[in-house]
Amino acid sequence: MVYTGRFAPSPTGPLHFGSLLAALASYLDARAHHGRWLVRIEDLDTPRVVKGASDRILKTLEQFGFEWHGPVIYQSDRLSIYNDALTELVSHQLAYPCSCSRQKIRQRTGSNRYDGYCRVHPPKHRTGCAIRSICAEDYSFDDLIQGPQTANHPIEDFVIFRRDGFFAYQLAVTVDDAAQQINHIVRGSDLLDSTPKQIHLQQQLGYPQPIYAHIPVATNLQGQKLSKQTLAPALDSHQTRQQIIRALRFLGQQPVAELSDCRLDECLAWAVEHWDINAIPKRMGIILESN
Ligand SMILES: [Zn+2]
Repeated sequence: MVYTGRFAPSPTGPLHFGSLLAALASYLDARAHHGRWLVRIEDLDTPRVVKGASDRILKTLEQFGFEWHGPVIYQSDRLSIYNDALTELVSHQLAYPCSCSRQKIRQRTGSNRYDGYCRVHPPKHRTGCAIRSICAEDYSFDDLIQGPQTANHPIEDFVIFRRDGFFAYQLAVTVDDAAQQINHIVRGSDLLDSTPKQIHLQQQLGYPQPIYAHIPVATNLQGQKLSKQTLAPALDSHQTRQQIIRALRFLGQQPVAELSDCRLDECLAWAVEHWDINAIPKRMGIILESN
């Protein structure tokens, strides 16, 4: 099996330094394994998609010297594939409709955690319902960077199709990773909580389980994760090499001083050759936004 990794940004704004870390780590790990690296645009949540953001993301990746295999996949083109998986789960009684609003769940349980109510009390009508996956077990997995991961409690019956008519992130990602034969997932540790849900769906749908490596998440001075919501600045395409070197340092690599005088492609080639995933820290320091 050829190593196949991926970078899967959501086009809700431009790439920032936190996205560069995830792109770079997944890219270098794939290249160091002589593997393939794919790019997938996760544009399912159309109300949050910003017009032109996908093109800008791909342009930024090119400017930073990233090269991907094959065509870029857009989740918005793949609704019928997600629908097939959803139908399969429902017809095998592995998922069920749920008419509960968040407010209803809170009223009943005193928390946001779903109690499986509609599993026992099926709603009269399917319209306006979410679909939830039936979960009964804990899923533990070994993460290459974060170590063994065990859930504190079984996963709740989570949403795979939303009440507002969108396929949920967990379902789409699981289906796409399997369809694209992704066997190594290197991504931000803000997605650690999603991994047991995706492993659960892989088992329900009979997919192989990839190897996971969750890189630490970069934060700003306020301790918030760098993201579009916390107004992380867009990557500056005029200082690509400097930012790659900076990202390498954050990923625990030891870029040599000579890289400052190299071309971007030489810098990336050095990074592939010296890539050491074991040097990545579990947690990351603060990113100063001013540079
Ligand atoms: Zn319900």
